[in-house]
Formats: sequence, C-alpha cells, structure tokens
Amino acid sequence: MFVLSLPFVTLAIDMQTPDRNSLLRELKNHLLFLKDAGYSEIPCESDLLTDSTSPLNYSAVKSMTDNKKANALIEVREELGDCNRCKLSQGRKNIVFGSGNPKADLVFVGEGPGADEDEQGLPFVGRAGKKLTEIIEKGMLLDREKDTYICNIVKCRPPGNRDPEKEEIVACNPFLIQQLKAIQPKVVVALGKPAASTLLGRNVPITKERGTWHDYEGFKLMLTLHPAYLLRAYTIENRKAVQSDMKKVLKELGR
Ligand code: URA
Repeated sequence: MFVLSLPFVTLAIDMQTPDRNSLLRELKNHLLFLKDAGYSEIPCESDLLTDSTSPLNYSAVKSMTDNKKANALIEVREELGDCNRCKLSQGRKNIVFGSGNPKADLVFVGEGPGADEDEQGLPFVGRAGKKLTEIIEKGMLLDREKDTYICNIVKCRPPGNRDPEKEEIVACNPFLIQQLKAIQPKVVVALGKPAASTLLGRNVPITKERGTWHDYEGFKLMLTLHPAYLLRAYTIENRKAVQSDMKKVLKELGR
C-alpha cells in the first residue's frame, strides 16, 4: 500500500484492491482540479514544517502565508464551480480560470480565452501566449510559471473571439477580484484595451495611457499593449513601448 498525502486529500492506495482504478481516477481528477486552480506544482504539507523550530522563523511564516494564498485561490475556483452565470458558458469547452504561481508578485490580466485556451483550459497558450511568454522570459528574465500568475477578465471564450460583452464582464469580475485578493500581487498588468478598460471602469485609450500606473482595488496596476496587438502591429515603436512598460514593472518589483 502507498499513502499519498496532500493538504487536501489523503489517499491510501492499495495496489491489490479492485478499486485501484477508481482511486487513480479520483487522484487524477484532483490533480486536474489543482491545475485548474492555477497550481503548477503540488503544494506539500512539509512546506509548513520547513525549519519551524522558532515560532518567529521567517521561512515557516512565509510558507504558511503562501499556503493560505494557494488555498484561498482554490476556494475561489470552487465558488466559481461549473459556472453558467453568463451566456459564454453555453459555447465553452473549458473554463480558463488562470495559471501560474498563486504566490506570484506579478499578475497579468488579459481579455479572454481564444480557441487554443478554450481547448486546453489554460490562459495564453496560443500565438499571443507565446509572445507573452517571450516578453516575460526573454524581456523580463522571469520564469512564467514561477514568477507570474496569468488570468483574463472573462474565463470563457467569447464566440468567434469577439470582445467580451458588458454583462459577461460584470458576471466574471467578482472572481477576478477574488483571485487578486487571494494572490495579493505587488503588481497587476492589464494587457490591452479591454482589460485596462474593465479594470479601470472607463474607456481607456490604451496607446495613450500605456506605461502609466493606476490603482485597482488597492493593487498597483500598469497598463500595456496586448501581445496579440503587438503581433499584429509589430513595429519597433510598439516593441519598445512594451519593453519600457515592463522595465517599470520590474523596478516596482525590485528586480
Ligand atoms: N488573449 C487573451 O486575452 N487571453 C488569453 O488567454 C489568450 C489570448
């Protein structure tokens, strides 16, 4: 028998019993659930015990805070459930909740899933996603999975990749706010006009206002161009603009 202990489940798997397949299925479903909730690694209870001999031990306190963030994010995912709060639910294949590190200091917020994201249930995995990864990893020298969390203003794909409508954004917005409150990032970056306009509650002329700092629910918010726009208008001017915006973000993060 082997025992698998996660903070959320303890499974005792007897490899001889006829129930082995259903236990493995349960385990697989749970791991998929964690992936949906944004985990890129399995949180382990032993994190909480790391060097915890002193009650004031920094790493132990930090681990507890980090675990709290991850659990808070899971609660948001649970509350969202198999959402049908707006009509986007009718055409989606998968809810794209978000992905990355729940403990990240930096959160990127895009517009909404496209076809690739809908298929895989993960944000920014298509062409625009590759560009975003390049901006994060080549431009900012950060690790996408370890240093950032990525989500969208709507979690289901708008048909034909149209812009999300107001009632869809309104239905999804409380979950975005709760995600940010769970993660408590130092900086949020709005990617493109729909994200910037949603977060600021007004029509944002993104090419004029990119590169500027704002407040969103108490979080420092930077506006920049959407990577898909960058691919469409691949000019030196636009590339330099995003570079300069990300430089400001890195400075704010102390990197
Ligand atoms: N564009 C977005 O705004 N979000 C995604 O997840 C993918 C593409």
